[in-house]
Amino acid sequence: MDDPNLLQNYQTKDIVTPYGHPSSSITEGTINNISVAILARHGKHHEIPPTKVNFRANIWALKKIGCTHIIATTAVGSLKEEIAPGHLVFPDQFIDRTTHREKTFFNENKVCHIPMAEPFCTQLRSILFETAQQMGVPAHPRGTVLTVEGPRFSTKAESHMFRQWGAHIINMSSVPETNLAREAGLCYASIAMSTDYDCWRESTEAVTVNEVLRVMKENSEKVKRLIINALPKIQHLDCQCKRDIQSSMM
Ligand SMILES: [Zn+2]
Repeated sequence: MDDPNLLQNYQTKDIVTPYGHPSSSITEGTINNISVAILARHGKHHEIPPTKVNFRANIWALKKIGCTHIIATTAVGSLKEEIAPGHLVFPDQFIDRTTHREKTFFNENKVCHIPMAEPFCTQLRSILFETAQQMGVPAHPRGTVLTVEGPRFSTKAESHMFRQWGAHIINMSSVPETNLAREAGLCYASIAMSTDYDCWRESTEAVTVNEVLRVMKENSEKVKRLIINALPKIQHLDCQCKRDIQSSMM
């Protein structure tokens, strides 16, 4: 996604936050007169491993420059037969299996219990799914994403267990990004691109980095088109996400 040609009149900003530096500078510009900012979660050259991503600085920086909606992109392994490589999923739930991450903005001085029954913005998700359908892109309107700490991939035993838990897809980045966005009062949805069948499916080779990169390369153009096509519908979205945080403080 980190393609400056997506944006008109763009400039690059370096933001410093109380939590340190975000993963990358932020490229800000417009797409069809709508303000858009792009941040590379894993750094401009994909050099930051999932555990080391400064999620709090990333969300804080986006909020600081005035972002109201976040569309995250993420490569995921599929835990379900029907979610084939190349398919898109717009997750509506997550299961958190991360262990080494700062997961809240409120770990001193203030106590906040943000509701997480619906972690992803429902309206943003529906707009993205409808747009994918109009474009004829194979897409799934909901799914549970299971986020592991990584950086290793799962064992077969883990992969089978996650399937039994009801997870549909697996990645290393949706948590704590999703919950921090909710704490920041931002609408957040994720475009999850299935790149492989993890390692549970006996008839398929277990996931490798080369296979993930190959499928991502083949499908990145349709994700860009999806975002461009969805933007005008997102622009005037008004929903509950920004109000939930106000009623979550002790
Ligand atoms: Zn929302």
